[in-house]
Amino acid sequence: MTSLSPVLKQATPVVVDHAQGSWIHGTDGRSYLDFTTGIGVTSTGHCHPKVVAAAREQVGRIIHAQYTTVMHQPLLALTEKLGEVLPAGLDSVFYANSGSEAVEAAIRLARMATGRPNIVVFQGGFHGRTVAAASLTTAGTKFSAGFAPLMAGVHMSAFPYAYRYGWDETTAVDFALRELDYLLQTRTAPADTAAFLIEPALGDGGYLPTPGTFMDGLRERADRHGIQLIFDEVQAGVGRTGKFWGHQYSSVSPDILVTAKGIASGFPISAIAASTETMSKAWPGSQGGTYGGNAVSAAAGVATLEVVEEEGLVENSRVRGEQLKAGVEEIQERFPVIGDVRGRGLMLGIEFTAEDGSPDARTAAAVQQATTEQELLTLTCGPAGNVVRLIPPLVVTAEEIATGLERFEAAVAVVTE
Ligand code: PMP
Repeated sequence: MTSLSPVLKQATPVVVDHAQGSWIHGTDGRSYLDFTTGIGVTSTGHCHPKVVAAAREQVGRIIHAQYTTVMHQPLLALTEKLGEVLPAGLDSVFYANSGSEAVEAAIRLARMATGRPNIVVFQGGFHGRTVAAASLTTAGTKFSAGFAPLMAGVHMSAFPYAYRYGWDETTAVDFALRELDYLLQTRTAPADTAAFLIEPALGDGGYLPTPGTFMDGLRERADRHGIQLIFDEVQAGVGRTGKFWGHQYSSVSPDILVTAKGIASGFPISAIAASTETMSKAWPGSQGGTYGGNAVSAAAGVATLEVVEEEGLVENSRVRGEQLKAGVEEIQERFPVIGDVRGRGLMLGIEFTAEDGSPDARTAAAVQQATTEQELLTLTCGPAGNVVRLIPPLVVTAEEIATGLERFEAAVAVVTE
């Protein structure tokens, strides 16, 4: 009998029968509150009627309109719609399928636009699983172990992870910016540095919001040295953090923005946006792909952005996020094994620690497993695997958050008592 490859590591034993809104209904007859959203993808909830209708309608018109052969209307419409939310000046968009591909497209563009080879990434960043994207990923050696050599020209600098060092945010940001300056003096000269690549909130690397002041510091150095600043908004974008883009917690914009996941509610599509001037520095045909900017995905993307706007989902993410965080902080008071609760909007990380403050991956993994038993789906993350992350859909209601909190607490109680 043929079976799925064991290279896949499934976080839960659930087999989906169908799903709607915040709920996944399993073939086991149980209904699970989904606080994973397919790793931050189903922003409008599962099978939002408007997204379903748009995709159905598009399937009947054309499914695959290969975009280097013919252009199609949904991609033009999505580009126009994205223009309403993209930072000023990023007026040129290229589409791919996945986050990894878009990250690679951003790197390719940054190198071509600057004529420089090196990329600086920040410790704990996750940028994807293709070999080049994995080379940029420092969220854990599990993402790159065993298949070296990786892409050359990648240098890692510090991330301002205040909790880990027991510092306040200002000290952590000051430290990380000094480390970056030191890297530029000792390892990759500005004249050799094409880009800084950073997530506005670390995703797989531990659900750590990137301090706005750190992003400001990156912008200042990028401007000073002619380095492209790339924000990987694949997980933090499209309302996830309670603002449309995660970087809006800083006062700066990127030169290249990468988006995917939440942009089309589960249909595969990703994009990079930059100024026309920057995009023009790459030669025509230097980016492409058979499936990029799929017509059905693009139609679902337009519907998603309309739903986000019409239903006020960015604001809902902020308000429900506050409810979720306050609820988990209350639970933290009863369970000392919860060391840190952090996040913005509906991107919440719960770090489990031992009495001496060291990472407690065993408890985090046990809690994640126990939440499934409580019919709440969650995931872990972080280099040590000791962070449980909660990623509800942006349509989540106050009642669903309350239910999720009850189930989460029950899971922590089962594991720790
Ligand atoms: N960047 C970030 C910030 C991500 O969170 C992810 C996926 N978790 C990726 C890139 C890679 O996206 P994909 O899995 O679609 O290739």
